[in-house]
Amino acid sequence: MQYSTNHCREILQKSAQLTSLRDEESLIRAFFEIMMGQFDELQSISLFKLERIHKDISLTVEAFQDRNSISGIAASESDVDAPEHLDEQGLNKDIFERLQQAILNNPELDENIESVSGNDFLIKKVNQDKQITYFMVYQFSESVSVELHNESDSTVTLDKSASSIQLIRYLSDIYSNHQLLISMNDKDSLTGLYNRKFFDRKMNQLLQMNGHLLRRKVENNHAACLAILDIDHFKRINDTFGHLYGDEVLLHFAQQMQKFFRDDDWLFRYGGEEFVVILEHIDISSVEKILHRFRTHIESYNFPKVDQVTISIGVTQFDGHALQNEMIDRADLALYYIKEHGRNNVGCYKKLVNDGLIQEIVTEDDIELF
Ligand code: GH3
Ligand code: MG
Ligand code: MG
Repeated sequence: MQYSTNHCREILQKSAQLTSLRDEESLIRAFFEIMMGQFDELQSISLFKLERIHKDISLTVEAFQDRNSISGIAASESDVDAPEHLDEQGLNKDIFERLQQAILNNPELDENIESVSGNDFLIKKVNQDKQITYFMVYQFSESVSVELHNESDSTVTLDKSASSIQLIRYLSDIYSNHQLLISMNDKDSLTGLYNRKFFDRKMNQLLQMNGHLLRRKVENNHAACLAILDIDHFKRINDTFGHLYGDEVLLHFAQQMQKFFRDDDWLFRYGGEEFVVILEHIDISSVEKILHRFRTHIESYNFPKVDQVTISIGVTQFDGHALQNEMIDRADLALYYIKEHGRNNVGCYKKLVNDGLIQEIVTEDDIELF
């Protein structure tokens, strides 16, 4: 059976809508919705994320959508959609483990069809960079028999499932290419860390979190912290070794950040030689210790040619009051204090204020308007 012109038109129109989306979470949601709407034979779709950190490999379900409307996105802020729930509610644990094995046995695969407990699954690689590979996993409600990579040979009439699979491939490619474009837009081209533009979006998202909720998190020591890391005397490095070596230092520094911090910490290149880390669900005193460890790690790291590089750090906590600029201003003020007092150290805004060493920044919330 062939697809009707109307159906093809609808699919084209929907895929055009996909390419108008500008953030990854909306893209995944819209993509799942379109696929479920267009292909009755799909029982579920999952997005698997294969991550390599040093020698460790982990495979998780990033997003899941079932025809019976169970869905979740792991990246979501809400606890209800946490990935551990996805296995139980959505993809059955045994199936998940079998698919996991299929991918881990052959992580370089482009496409594969797996039969697991009487269900057919199409596993299609959608995106790959140095550390992360994504796979779209389509579960069919009936078994499908189709040759892999069936190029549309005009002499062969494809049956419905074969032409569906071909369409699913094309749509997966659209998703994949667009996802790549979106993610490149958020990254700094030299270091690969998130850029300033994405930082602004992430801050908005954090600050939109209900102030009350944020204050409760602070009381329970589960708040988020923001740190600015600034390379000491970077201008000297440029002047002594040249701009190219300066760039090399930035690159090595960013790589050390990626190795050192946890997967769920947010790393940004904020400006030239200034970096920002946002750490969530952690109290400020633990963050201070982590930052000191990172600072000493950098102090003893052997940068090519340049040898020793040190950094100064200012850190502050989200408290449900401050606005975006105020958060940065607080961390900056603590950083400035460290720069003025010997560098190669960590300054905590609140402590410095309490000790009377810097002046508190008054938030707009605290100013009474008459
Ligand atoms: P401080 O310890 O007070 O932070 O001193 P500093 O020299 O690190 O700070 P300053 O702000 O005076 O200089 C930062 C320098 O970083 C100036 C600028 O030329 C350089 N820079 C900014 N972006 C880049 C870049 O992408 N590559 C290179 N190589 N240098 C950069
Ligand atoms: Mg500097
Ligand atoms: Mg600077």
